[in-house]
Amino acid sequence: MSHFSYQAGVLHAEAVALPKIAEEFGTPTYVYSKTALLQNFAAYHDACQGRDALVCYAMKANSNLAIIDLLARQGAGFDIVSGGELLRVIAAGGDPGKTIFSGVGKTVEEMKLALDKGILCFNVESIPELHRLNEVAGSMGKRAPVSLRVNPNVDAKTHPYIATGLKANKFGVAFDDALETYRAAASLPHLDVVGIDCHIGSQLLDDAPLLEALTKLIELIDTLGSEGIHLHHLDIGGGLGVNYGAEGDKPPVLVRDYLGRLFARIDAWRAEKHGGQPIKVIFEPGRSIVADTGVLVTRVEFLKPGEEKNFCIVDAAMNDLMRPTLYQAWMGVQEVAPRAGDKLTYDVVGPVCESGDWLARERALAVEQGDLLAVMTAGAYGMTMASNYNTRGRAAEVIVDGDQVHLVRQRENPADLFALESMLT
Ligand SMILES: *Cc1c(COP(=O)(O)O)cnc(C)c1O
Repeated sequence: MSHFSYQAGVLHAEAVALPKIAEEFGTPTYVYSKTALLQNFAAYHDACQGRDALVCYAMKANSNLAIIDLLARQGAGFDIVSGGELLRVIAAGGDPGKTIFSGVGKTVEEMKLALDKGILCFNVESIPELHRLNEVAGSMGKRAPVSLRVNPNVDAKTHPYIATGLKANKFGVAFDDALETYRAAASLPHLDVVGIDCHIGSQLLDDAPLLEALTKLIELIDTLGSEGIHLHHLDIGGGLGVNYGAEGDKPPVLVRDYLGRLFARIDAWRAEKHGGQPIKVIFEPGRSIVADTGVLVTRVEFLKPGEEKNFCIVDAAMNDLMRPTLYQAWMGVQEVAPRAGDKLTYDVVGPVCESGDWLARERALAVEQGDLLAVMTAGAYGMTMASNYNTRGRAAEVIVDGDQVHLVRQRENPADLFALESMLT
């Protein structure tokens, strides 16, 4: 069930009417449902019950401290892509020991920080990174736990959304080079080779490519084992998609069905080749944990009818929500208090000085100046991608819990935006 629903003709987040939030906190504001967040996490967590498994939320999807805290309290680990994200985990009371560090460009400072805090694992993406990490760990008198991000080169033809699991991108170690890279890692004195990982792409609606990637990782784990390199964990990455609600979109696979199939394969393989001995399984979901937990509430500033197009100009813009212009992403837009009148077709655009500043195109809406709209399914890659372009302060963020509203990030004040700047003396 969605936690955003119409009650008496007004869109609510759980039990709170969105106009009430707009009045109290202004617009644009990101509104998240705590119940939706906990349910999404529980879908993973419950499917992992009784297993040696860890759900490491990919926090780049939404890294608000309150979200990190709520998930940490449910037992989540975290997948980070920067030292800054690690500091967020710690600030929110998350456990560095359940944190894995992904990304192609980790700096010496980031490696030091992560080693100092005792993270679970570095997901290493290249040979030069192995050497850097080995040196940094050696200089600190430590050993760094490493996993190699392997690029399984899963066929993308039938799965157009796979963007990171192919040979022609910057991520991971090519499948054909993996063995050699593992040997290199195993030979370095300050590294502990503990795992294997992959992340083949995002917004996958079908789990077939993920299971295909799993098959390739399994193959590699067996080959490594025969060479005396024994891995403790297998990390299949994130990538499960969500329903953005566009017409004709197919619904995404359910988390529990995907995990069920994945564990069944792993169990069969362990039973056949490893005497039933388990292997720790790690997941890195981002979007599927937070996307449908949030909406972006925005107010109509002006209506601008035109010969070819009608524009609905709102107070949220590409700097608040970049997905439409960055990925040509389709996001649902709903009237917060729908009017009875005739609908007109609008492009919903922001005030930023770019033609690319649009949130939705060709939507039938019955709106008037001053009305509220909600951009749906905006909880992932919304606020975390926001910028200050046009010296616009970033939106406020609130979390709704039943009939309670918690402000979890204040709206940015324009003076804050240039506080770090200075003029020539
Ligand atoms: C972004 C990212 C994820 C999360 O992807 P989703 O599609 O949001 O689930 C997981 N792992 C890595 C390495 C990532 O970069």
